Amino acid sequence: MEIKGIHLLLTYQCNFRCDHCFVWGCPEAKGVMTISDIVEILGEASQIGSIAKVFFEGGEPFLYYPVMLRGIREARGMGFDVGVVTNAYWATSREDALEWLGPMVDAGLSDLSISDDLLHSAQGNEKPASAREAAAELSLPTGSIVTEDPREQDSDEKKGGSVMFRGRAVEKLTEGMPKEPWTVFTECKREKLENPSRVHLDPMGFVHICQGLAIGNYRERPLSEIIGEYDARSHPICSPILKGGPVGLVESYGVPHAEDYVDECHMCYCARLALRERFPEYLAPDQMYGS
Ligand code: SF4
Repeated sequence: MEIKGIHLLLTYQCNFRCDHCFVWGCPEAKGVMTISDIVEILGEASQIGSIAKVFFEGGEPFLYYPVMLRGIREARGMGFDVGVVTNAYWATSREDALEWLGPMVDAGLSDLSISDDLLHSAQGNEKPASAREAAAELSLPTGSIVTEDPREQDSDEKKGGSVMFRGRAVEKLTEGMPKEPWTVFTECKREKLENPSRVHLDPMGFVHICQGLAIGNYRERPLSEIIGEYDARSHPICSPILKGGPVGLVESYGVPHAEDYVDECHMCYCARLALRERFPEYLAPDQMYGS
């Protein structure tokens, strides 16, 4: 596989507790990367050769601002393009946002993605706009991550992406949603499990090909080795999903299942939850499963 980007979950902590969060981010979440973790990961990423872009995200990475800043500087110094994903809680005003973003731009940040929707914040929250204004003043390109609330059924106009029914979204947002019979979910449509272009790395060391679906742990084996040796067809969870989607997964291991699900990720997440004890090194960590 040719990995083009790595996404560092700098922390699982977040100042928000969004219903649709697929990493169960919240203020009490455990797990933060250290500077030496980041430096080691970046060194390995350099060795892999194909990686061009490094993202810092979470949780909310601005909660560990100095560590993120150092990470941006280190990554840029190694020649990577660097992006950050944030909910913009820190952008109290345009002027204040300039103070946060200025040093990040100086360190080499070249992309700021801002979560900007009603699932992330109460109506009338001006912070994403303040962050964008400040970024524009610094010539820092921004993107908005807009996720539609699936409970808002009355709006015909589609304004953003759809919720991924994994993580907390399964607990909070599936009730009352239209569902389809479990037998139709024979394909994973959202992740390229066989040849992914990016992976997520978390503070516990797990390398995720989909949130909570690990292909190794960089605290136990070098990242370059994990990426170099990954073979989806011999991975105990990816292999059945590749052959038959979430249906393939439940049939391979005789997992009890419901009669219907909102989408393939909903079914997959529930099956993985049931399989965690059997495959603890692949279906981890607890943070990704809300435990
Ligand atoms: S939750 Fe399962 S079906 Fe959905 S993207 Fe991840 S691996 Fe694919």
